[in-house]
Amino acid sequence: MSSPGQMNNWAGNVAFGPTRVVTPRDVDELCAAVASAAAAGERVNTVGTAHSFSAIADTDGALVSTEHLRRIGPIDEVSGWVTIESGVRFAELGDWLNHRGWALHNLPSLPHITVAGAAATATHGSGVRNGNIATAVAALDLVLADGSLRRFVDGDPEFSGVVVALGALGVVARLQVRVRPAFDVAQSVWLGAGLAAVLDRFDDVMSSAYSVSLFTNWQHDVIQQIWVKATIDDAPFDASDLGATAAMSDVHPVGADPAACTPQGGVSGPSHERLAHFRSGFTPSFGAELQTEYFVDRRDAAAAAQAIRSIADRLASVILISEIRTIAADDLWMSTAYGRDSVSFHFTWRLDPVGVSKVLPLLEDVLESFDPRPHWAKLTAVAPARQLGRYPRADDFIALCTALDPNGTFRNRAWQS
Ligand SMILES: Cc1cc2nc3c(=O)[nH]c(=O)nc-3n(C[C@H](O)[C@H](O)[C@H](O)COP(=O)(O)OP(=O)(O)OC[C@H]3O[C@@H](n4cnc5c(N)ncnc54)[C@H](O)[C@@H]3O)c2cc1C
Repeated sequence: MSSPGQMNNWAGNVAFGPTRVVTPRDVDELCAAVASAAAAGERVNTVGTAHSFSAIADTDGALVSTEHLRRIGPIDEVSGWVTIESGVRFAELGDWLNHRGWALHNLPSLPHITVAGAAATATHGSGVRNGNIATAVAALDLVLADGSLRRFVDGDPEFSGVVVALGALGVVARLQVRVRPAFDVAQSVWLGAGLAAVLDRFDDVMSSAYSVSLFTNWQHDVIQQIWVKATIDDAPFDASDLGATAAMSDVHPVGADPAACTPQGGVSGPSHERLAHFRSGFTPSFGAELQTEYFVDRRDAAAAAQAIRSIADRLASVILISEIRTIAADDLWMSTAYGRDSVSFHFTWRLDPVGVSKVLPLLEDVLESFDPRPHWAKLTAVAPARQLGRYPRADDFIALCTALDPNGTFRNRAWQS
């Protein structure tokens, strides 16, 4: 246990306010720490690597850090399930799996974060057939307020409610994650596609490789970069009919040093080194930034994009870059892709909280008719109650919170008003 000192999230826009920070060295210590905090009437929240832009990992009680819970294994080669402790980061899991001939199905843009933190917020990569990270979770062990461990396995009645849990049900001690045989990916980048051409053929473009991302700052009728992550099963990608040209050298989404990016140029290699955009030893993205993201039904992709383009001038002073990705539908109650194949509109903003707070209501206004679900870990002006209203199983989730945590030990003031 330690006094907190000044703790911030990765972006520095959230100053954490815990009364103390607990860093258990193993699962037994974790259970004991949660039980004693709850018995003392403290609220408890969990933090992974604190890469969320919202206050979702903050608390006014005890903050449990999973930093020392980093054990990986064993892997069950028959079921394809690997057991990990909840502090394990994608970077270390990717290496561990690759050495044994296995891989995760997908990655977010950065491998620096914990798998548990990513699953808790429905963090995702891209790919029309790829579910978010939480969809790879096959089972988990949850520490409840009394310090007991409760195991949930895919197929259990509550399972779809406990994976994307926003830290609100307890502390995940261990996860079992579905993996697949290792596979190679070749990443290439195309520059300067026409926005209208891409939107006209949106499904074709996004389905044309294992994972496709579009980058634009919305200021012109242009998709500035198309990042294509292809497997051996994908046909060659050619965006010349979209007005694009193949990048002749490596690029960074916001024009920073591409050395921070995973290998490009169509050179094939292990998927864990290419499905993320950024390398683990480098600062991901721009660094000094804020982020926002909205998920809408993929069928609304073109209309929603046009709506954003219509207010491009209002975004100009704060936008660094926007990324458009696709996520396969799932059945996880609080997942941003629950029940619908989704497209996500991500915004990397300048580190200007006041400027960003002014554009969020405008964006949310033009997207309102598409029933947008904001990313749980990013900035939004949508009030918590309205956010919950966009999830058909929200009432079931709230009932699960009450059932598993009747005293509200894990209640999070950031979104459970
Ligand atoms: C540069 C950058 C790039 C990003 N790129 C993407 C992207 O490509 N796609 C995307 O979807 N998101 C992206 N994000 C957002 C990021 O994926 C989420 O913020 C993610 O939740 C961060 O993981 P973390 O380990 O830092 O979790 P934290 O921020 O520490 O915690 C997030 C939530 O998970 C809960 N939690 C963490 N561990 C546990 C546990 N053991 N038990 C119970 N609850 C737990 C916390 O209580 C909190 O509610 C990005 C963020 C940054 C800073």
